[in-house]
Amino acid sequence: MRRVSIFGATGSIGQNTVDLIKRAPDDYDVVALTGGGNIAQLARDAKDLRAEVAVTCYPEKLPQLRAALAGTGIEVAAGDAAIAEAAARPADWVMSAIVGAAGLVPGLEALKQGTTLALANKESLVTAGPLLMGTARTHGATVLPVDSEHSAVFQGLIGEDIAAVERIIITASGGAFRDWPLEAIASATVADASSHPNWDMGQRITIDSASMFNKSLELIETKEFFGVKPDQIETVVHPESLIHALVGFNDGALMAHVGPPDMRHAIGFALHWPERKHLPVDRLDLAAIAQLTFRAPDDARYPALRLARDVMEIGGMAGAAFNGAKEKALDLFIGEKIGFLEMAQVVEGVLNRMDQQNCLRNAATDLDTVQAADHMARKIAQELSATV
Ligand code: NDP
Ligand code: MG
Repeated sequence: MRRVSIFGATGSIGQNTVDLIKRAPDDYDVVALTGGGNIAQLARDAKDLRAEVAVTCYPEKLPQLRAALAGTGIEVAAGDAAIAEAAARPADWVMSAIVGAAGLVPGLEALKQGTTLALANKESLVTAGPLLMGTARTHGATVLPVDSEHSAVFQGLIGEDIAAVERIIITASGGAFRDWPLEAIASATVADASSHPNWDMGQRITIDSASMFNKSLELIETKEFFGVKPDQIETVVHPESLIHALVGFNDGALMAHVGPPDMRHAIGFALHWPERKHLPVDRLDLAAIAQLTFRAPDDARYPALRLARDVMEIGGMAGAAFNGAKEKALDLFIGEKIGFLEMAQVVEGVLNRMDQQNCLRNAATDLDTVQAADHMARKIAQELSATV
């Protein structure tokens, strides 16, 4: 029996993970499941999977969770500290699928136990890549990518020498507005941005796909995870979302990972790694698909991609500032305080202000420094939102 925990179990990635675990209940001992506001789902899965502990990040939801699990013998807890405590419980495999920088601390706690961390939470790598990967090294832990593009690259590198890699190409669907005129994008609503042409995901990453902030996080994630240089990382718009990424080698070969847009492939790959096992995803009929198309991303349409390049060049605290500012700008867009295109203006303004104040190029990688940069970025984003 493998001991597994799922952080962010009630979300899109979390539910896909629960689906795979439920298909083979005898193979797993579930330690912790965590969620946020969706107490009914959290309690249902905790019961079905006989979890040791169920945790919500919201302290005010604890009575509801306690009532839902009364008499089951399942422990309940609430709040960020309780989530961190749950992450410190020994487990062989931990899914990191909380959304946002809130996933960083539980991820670090799990790595300190020497576990295998399946990392969907790209924000923790963007915010604190050197800290996260350094913690894994120190404690003999393993980080496996779950983002579909990074899982694809990881699979393309099995048995290969990273020194032979010339480039990594991350594909992008182009999101909800890939065919909209720019003028229309300026007045796009939250509802417009919340539906993805190919993938069924949580609301925040879906909106980030429309703005390409998701792709910019993924470019930085590529640099932090695989240790390649920024100029080795490319992106191409591929509207069908069937090729997830390509690895280009020094002999000119390009290895592409092709599969249906179903996150259970990347999750299941990480769950069974280093083995491969049968997964319940559709098999592609290439003749029915007939063609795959590609186009260069348009920088005017997607300023987030240019900002990601700056962040990769600067290094230091730029990733923490970028992600913090992006999360705040997204909150403001969802709250209808700023327009869709103003998100990138706010993030760029935050990076400029923090660089002028010499707050980006700090090479320290400790958690306090990272969190201070994240908080400062959110505060400046709030201020700047009044001026865009
Ligand atoms: P969802 O919004 O669907 O789920 C987020 C999960 O985190 C939920 O369980 C939610 O609880 C919980 N949560 C929300 N806020 C907090 C918080 N402050 N502290 C603790 N838990 C919290 O997101 P996704 O599943 O779409 O994405 C999860 C992560 O995976 C993100 O980092 C995303 O970028 C990444 N990812 C997602 C993909 C996808 O296909 N969805 C693809 C690739 C990467 P509740 O819902 O109960 O409130
Ligand atoms: Mg992705």
